[in-house]
Amino acid sequence: MSTSVTVDTAAAAAPVETASAARVPHVLDGVAIAARIKAEVAEEVAALAVHGIRPGLAVILVGHVPASEIYVRSKVKTCGELGIYSEMLTPPESITTDEMLGLVAGLNARDDIDGILIQLPLPKHVDTRRLLEAVNPGKDVDGFHPVNAGRLQSGQPGLAPCTPAGIMEILKRSNLPVSGQNAVVVGRSDIVGKPAAMMLLNASATVTVCHSKTRDLAAVTRQADILVASIGRAAFVTKDMVKPGAVLIDVGINRVTDEAEVKSFFGDDPARAATFAKRGSVVVGDIHPAAFAISSAYTPVPGGVGALTIAMLMQNTVTAAKLRRGLSAGRL
Ligand code: NAP
Repeated sequence: MSTSVTVDTAAAAAPVETASAARVPHVLDGVAIAARIKAEVAEEVAALAVHGIRPGLAVILVGHVPASEIYVRSKVKTCGELGIYSEMLTPPESITTDEMLGLVAGLNARDDIDGILIQLPLPKHVDTRRLLEAVNPGKDVDGFHPVNAGRLQSGQPGLAPCTPAGIMEILKRSNLPVSGQNAVVVGRSDIVGKPAAMMLLNASATVTVCHSKTRDLAAVTRQADILVASIGRAAFVTKDMVKPGAVLIDVGINRVTDEAEVKSFFGDDPARAATFAKRGSVVVGDIHPAAFAISSAYTPVPGGVGALTIAMLMQNTVTAAKLRRGLSAGRL
């Protein structure tokens, strides 16, 4: 994202090997990078407290969706750990679009709330697009509002979607070059593919965006120095689709419950077999594990891009608190 990025000097001192060198693929550790970002956010929160400012995040969680409940609890817990005020609103499944609009209007008007997050998906009868557009763009910490999409496109300070912002942090903090690189993004969703492509372009990569209608996808992905996969299909990008030495960014989170399929992806990997035995499923990314072996660096699943999303949400909440008060988005 374009705000408050700090170069990680530890990573800068140990650059990841580039495509041309003989290599063992470098695992881009999202958990460690997220921990560093959260520590920086906590410092920012402490610095704001000196000025009497406490960033606040409101999360609206409609009905009972177990996966969303786990995710929201984790967001609220992280707020507490970093000193960010948080509030959870839990309207029933039966809430109407108008009632939701009323909730959002109330949060827009509150001075102690800097970020508003509407946990998706919403029940089918609720107009998601209308709601997302009703959030004050200055409090849109998910970065989904068209105003923030426009700001991202025009390179102005704003609030950028958390997952692609996390991808850029991984690249930056791992000292991986972006400028001048061929970046291929597979997937064009509003929350990942399109904003990731825009951020890579803003960082001066030469960007190609692929989707389900792309002809000869493998020929395009093989051109990628940086390949971002946000497709939602387990192990879809295979080794033959990857240029040796490429940097692989795997956004996909796919739960695989078929043991034979798990074996076809991971062979006899004991760790995956143990996870499968315990949970009856294994999480697999959009990139086939065999492709990682020929990369120069890759984000694992789990523990890669997904680990960054909450950290970036926290960073966006602090950025929103600053921008709303006319402060610069950079570190205090
Ligand atoms: P999405 O909205 O379903 O978009 C999927 C994209 O993949 C679409 O643009 C689609 O093309 C493209 N696609 C589908 N089949 C394809 C094919 N055969 N060839 C080329 N492109 C194809 O998905 P998303 O929201 O971006 O999420 C993708 C994955 O990332 C999911 O596994 C999701 O769980 C995960 N995710 C992770 C995080 C995180 O780590 N925090 C956040 C968000 C998403 P069309 O546009 O032509 O249909």
